[in-house]
Amino acid sequence: MFSCPDCQCVVGEYPTAGVLAVVCAGCTFKYELSGGVARACTSRQVQVRAATEQQRASYARQYELTLAVSSRETLRFTFGTARDDEWIRIGTGDACVVVYSMRGEEREELLFIVNRTSGERFILGTPGSRSKFKANLIGGIIGVGVLGLGAVAPIPFAVALGLAAASGFGAAMGMAHVLKPKHVLRLDEQVTLSARQSLLDEKRTVLRRREEVAAEVDTRQSLRKRLFDLKTRMEAVKVDAYAPRIELIDKALASLEAQLDVDHRLVAEYERTLQIIDIEYESSVAADAMPGDGAGIMEARLTELRSVEEHRAETTRQLSANAEVEQLLRSHSGDPSSLTK
Ligand SMILES: [Zn+2]
Repeated sequence: MFSCPDCQCVVGEYPTAGVLAVVCAGCTFKYELSGGVARACTSRQVQVRAATEQQRASYARQYELTLAVSSRETLRFTFGTARDDEWIRIGTGDACVVVYSMRGEEREELLFIVNRTSGERFILGTPGSRSKFKANLIGGIIGVGVLGLGAVAPIPFAVALGLAAASGFGAAMGMAHVLKPKHVLRLDEQVTLSARQSLLDEKRTVLRRREEVAAEVDTRQSLRKRLFDLKTRMEAVKVDAYAPRIELIDKALASLEAQLDVDHRLVAEYERTLQIIDIEYESSVAADAMPGDGAGIMEARLTELRSVEEHRAETTRQLSANAEVEQLLRSHSGDPSSLTK
């Protein structure tokens, strides 16, 4: 999912294939996302400064990335980086997204490239840095101009310096605001966009929670397997003294089973919620309307989801109330041999 690098709002989903322009409802910066499969990514070293007696030569690197955004269309991106090692790793066949900030219909700055195959993100710029640079330059020129005027005017030099600094700083701040690559949105567009992007924000939260629960399910399943194996080994050696431990393992296994039941139910609810979010989001885009208008579908869904989450939390609390079993699960998740001692 693409989050605005300026204000961290979730703005859209990375396109798998194709070019997408999105506007952030939070800060109204506009971005272009080009998604596709890398056909080639090559780079060459370029000399920035020749060696002198005092200094070694310095180098930068120039890249060229060819991206197939559909079966018929490929896009070529060329860009330079100050680093001279091959730090941008994109192999042929890797799924990539190239992200630019936009000023109107024009690309302004290359911000980053995501290699979705390797999960790496290569940061190349920050939105608005070019306009900030320009604004500072203009502020500097104005400051120097005022200082020049002050020097010939009949005022003390310290006053002229103060005036120059204040006017230069003020001009830089003002220009930074004016030059920011903001996109102008009508009020209704802004409202629709905000509602749509808050849906995506909800999606990000649900995805994260689903991952967390899925990770806990994995841990519990492997623990269940280990306890089961241990029990089988204890039963095989037919030692009477093991009976109380076997009984304890049985209790722990039953507890794990019950916990896994509620875990699975919650994961299924997350899946359903994600599907509903996708439907709401895509219908909103297709109809160019507010998502889930009036029906309150999302609200009802999220309320249901919270209640399943609460139910799971309550079950987890109840299951861990059995101190002996809890102790066994805890010690056992660390050291599988602890029970045989
Ligand atoms: Zn933003």
